Amino acid sequence: MIMHDKNLIDEFENELKKNGISRRDALKLLGLSGAGLFLSPNEAEASKLYASDVKAKIVIVGGGLAGISTAARLTNALSSPDITVIEPNPNSVSYQPGNTFIGAGLYKKEDVMYKLKDFVPTGVKLIEDKAVEFNPENNTLKVSKGDTISYDFLIVAAGLTLDFSKIKGLEELGDVYTQDEKEKVVQMFKGTGASTIYNTNAAAITWENMQKSIEEAKSGKKLNAVFSHPDTAIKCGGAPKKIMYLMDARLNEASKQARENVDMTFYPNGTKMFGVKAYEDAIKEQYKVRNMKYKYAHNLVEVKLKEKVAVFNHHWEEKGAYDPDIEDYNILKKSELVEVPYDFLHIAPPMKAAPEIGSSPIGSAKGWVPVKKDILQHVKYENIFSLGDIAAIPLGKTGGSVRKQYKVLVENLISLMEGKEMKAKYGGYTVCPIITGIGTVMLAEFDWTMKPTPSFPLDPTKERYIWWILKMYILKPMTQYGMLSGRV
Ligand SMILES: Cc1cc2nc3c(=O)[nH]c(=O)nc-3n(C[C@H](O)[C@H](O)[C@H](O)COP(=O)(O)OP(=O)(O)OC[C@H]3O[C@@H](n4cnc5c(N)ncnc54)[C@H](O)[C@@H]3O)c2cc1C
Repeated sequence: MIMHDKNLIDEFENELKKNGISRRDALKLLGLSGAGLFLSPNEAEASKLYASDVKAKIVIVGGGLAGISTAARLTNALSSPDITVIEPNPNSVSYQPGNTFIGAGLYKKEDVMYKLKDFVPTGVKLIEDKAVEFNPENNTLKVSKGDTISYDFLIVAAGLTLDFSKIKGLEELGDVYTQDEKEKVVQMFKGTGASTIYNTNAAAITWENMQKSIEEAKSGKKLNAVFSHPDTAIKCGGAPKKIMYLMDARLNEASKQARENVDMTFYPNGTKMFGVKAYEDAIKEQYKVRNMKYKYAHNLVEVKLKEKVAVFNHHWEEKGAYDPDIEDYNILKKSELVEVPYDFLHIAPPMKAAPEIGSSPIGSAKGWVPVKKDILQHVKYENIFSLGDIAAIPLGKTGGSVRKQYKVLVENLISLMEGKEMKAKYGGYTVCPIITGIGTVMLAEFDWTMKPTPSFPLDPTKERYIWWILKMYILKPMTQYGMLSGRV
C-alpha cells in the first residue's frame, strides 16, 4: 500500500518545484539529508560517527519512538556505549500517525506494526519487561519480574496509555497502549459502530465501521456520525478531527447522496478547534465548507454500545449573584448529561502516563514526568531525563516534537557526562499535519509562542497536495528508518 519508490520522490520534487522550492532546499528545511531519508537501520549503523569517549551506564525506559531514537543516537555518538532499553511490548508502532490512515482504509496494520527486536540498535541491550518501581535516590529501578536495574543515567520515554477506565461502559478495557494487541479491545468494539484510531487494532475496526456506514448511507439510510475529544492531554490533538475529515472524504467518494445522508458532529471537551488562531480559523472554514458540525464543551463520559448512545457531560459557566467582597459576580459551573445516538462513533479516549511511572517518585503531581522543558532534564534528579509523550512539556505529545527533543536530550546528556554545560535547547516545536481530505493536508507547525512556525516559505493555513505526499508516503520511512536509526 505504501509507496517508497523513485516515482514518489519525483512527484514530491515536482510538487516542490510548482511551489518554487528545490528538493535540496526542502530536505534542508526538513532537517534531512536526501540519502539519510531512506536508509535501513543497518545502513545507518555503518555510517555512524563517534564523537565522545565518555562512559556511563544509560538505561532507557520505553522502546517506542522516543526511546529507540535516543538509544540509536547515543549509540552513534559514543565510542563505548552501554545502553539498556526496558520495554514490555514485543511489537511497536513508531509511525502512529499511520493509524489514522488505517482508520480510513488507506494503510493496513502491517504497514505500521513491526517487531521491536528488528529496530533495536546493534549493541543495545533489550530487557523485555516493564519498569514498575523507581528508586531515584539509589539510581535503581525494578522491573515486574523482580530484578533490580542500576544506572548512572536514566531516560524515561514510556509514552502514555489510553485510559478507558474513565468512560463508563468501556471500563473493563482499563489501560491500553497504542500498539496493544489485547483481544478484549477487538472484542469490545467489533461490530458495534464505535472504535478508536488510538489503538492500532481498533483503527482497523474503525475502517470496518466506516465502510458499513458508507454502504448504509449509499442505500439511503440517514446516519449520525459522532467524534469525541477528551478532557485530558492527548497525543496528536489533531487526530480526532483528521479521522472525521477522512470519513467525509470517503463518503463523498462513494456519492454525493451518501455524504448528505450522514450528519457529522465533533464533540470536543474544550471550546476551541485548535490552540493557534490562524489554524483554528482555517479549520472552522474547512468544517463549514464540508458541512461538518462541532459542539464545544462536551466530554464523553459513557458509551452504551448495545443501544448505540454516547453520553456527554456538557458543561458551561453562568453569571451568579454579585459578591460585594470581590466586587464581581460569582461564576457558577453548570453541567448536564446529553445522550447522543450514533451509528458511527470515533472515541478519542482520555490519556495518562503509565501509573507505575506517573505516581512514582519520579512522577509529577499531575502524573507525568516533570522536566525543565528546554533542556529535558528532570526537575529534581539531575541524572534523569525524559522526552516524548510522558514528559510534562507543553505541546510535547507528537512525533514531530520527539524529532526535535531526542537530539537536544542526547547532546545535553553527553555534555553532562563530560562535565560540560548543557547548551542544547528545545524550543517547543511541534507539528500537526491536519489531513483535510484524501490528497490534502494543512501542515500546522507551531511552538510555544502559539504562532505558526512554518518550515517552508508557504502559507501554512492552506491545504496542499504536497503535504499529503509528505504525510502519506515520506514521513513513515523518515520516522521508522530515519529517526529510529538516530539520524533524522
Ligand atoms: C492516531 C495517532 C495519530 C498521530 N498523529 C501524529 C501526527 O500526525 N504527527 C505527529 O507528529 N505525531 C502524531 N502522533 C503522536 C506520536 O505518534 C507520538 O507522540 C509518539 O509516538 C510518541 O513517542 P513516545 O516514544 O513518547 O511514545 P511511544 O512511541 O508510544 O512509546 C512508548 C513506549 O513505552 C513503553 N512503556 C510504557 N510503560 C512502560 C514501562 N513501565 N516500562 C517500560 N516501557 C514502558 C510502551 O510499551 C511503548 O512502547 C499520533 C499518534 C496517534 C496514536
